[in-house]
Amino acid sequence: MKVVLLGAPNTGKGTYASRYLKDIYKIPHISTGDLFRANIRNNTDLGVEAKAYIDAGKLVPDAITTSMLRQRLKEDDCRDGFFLDGFPRTVAQAEALEGIASIDVALNFIADEETLIRRATGRRTCRGCGAIYHLTNIIPKVEGVCDKCGGEVYQRDDDKMEVFKKRLKIYNDETRPVIEFYRKKGLLAEIDANLDVNHPNFHVIDDCKKVLDKLRGK
Ligand code: AMP
Repeated sequence: MKVVLLGAPNTGKGTYASRYLKDIYKIPHISTGDLFRANIRNNTDLGVEAKAYIDAGKLVPDAITTSMLRQRLKEDDCRDGFFLDGFPRTVAQAEALEGIASIDVALNFIADEETLIRRATGRRTCRGCGAIYHLTNIIPKVEGVCDKCGGEVYQRDDDKMEVFKKRLKIYNDETRPVIEFYRKKGLLAEIDANLDVNHPNFHVIDDCKKVLDKLRGK
C-alpha cells in the first residue's frame, strides 16, 4: 500500500504515521524532512547543501529532494509500500513520483491556521532520533531529554514563529496545487485533523483506518 500524506506543516501527519499508522499497516514512514535532518546530523554533502534552505524555511530544490527519495524507496523495507510524508511538495515532485512508484491514495490532513501555529511553536524534536514532543501534549518524562534515545529535545529553527509563517506561505503557494493533482486522479481522501491527539473525541486515526482498510480490501 503506497500512501502519500498531504497537509500543511503541523497538521500532525508525521506524528500519526510514525506513532500509529506504520505499526498498524507494517509499512515504513518515510519523511523527506527526517531524511534531510539525518543527512545534516551526519554532515553529508547533501546535508550541507540542504541545511541552508531548511533553516530559512525554504524548499530544497526538486532535483536534490527527488533523487534522495528515489534512493530511499529502493530499500527493502519499502517493498510492501510506505507512508510518504513531506513529499511531494510541488507538482513537479508529484509528476516525478509517478515515475518512481504507483500511489494508491493521498490522505490530505486539514487543520485551521491557528491550530497549525499553536502546534508549531509548541513542537519539540529530538536531536538524536527525530522523535516528536509537544510542550503541552507530548511531554518527555525528563524535561529536554528524549524518552526513546536520551538525546536533546530542542525547538527546530523552522518551528519558530517567523520561519513557520514563511513555511505556511510556501505551502499555500507551492504545495496546495498537489492536492488538486491527486483529486483529479481520484486518489484524494480528506481527513479532518483539527483535534489534538489527547482530545476525548479524537478521531484522526480511525478516519485514516476507514480509508486504508477499504484499500487493503478489509
Ligand atoms: P518537514 O520535516 O517535512 O517539515 O521538512 C522540513 C524541511 O525540509 C522543509 O521546510 C523543507 O525545507 C525541507 N523539505 C522536506 N521535504 C521536502 C520536499 N519534498 N521538497 C523540498 N524541501 C523539502
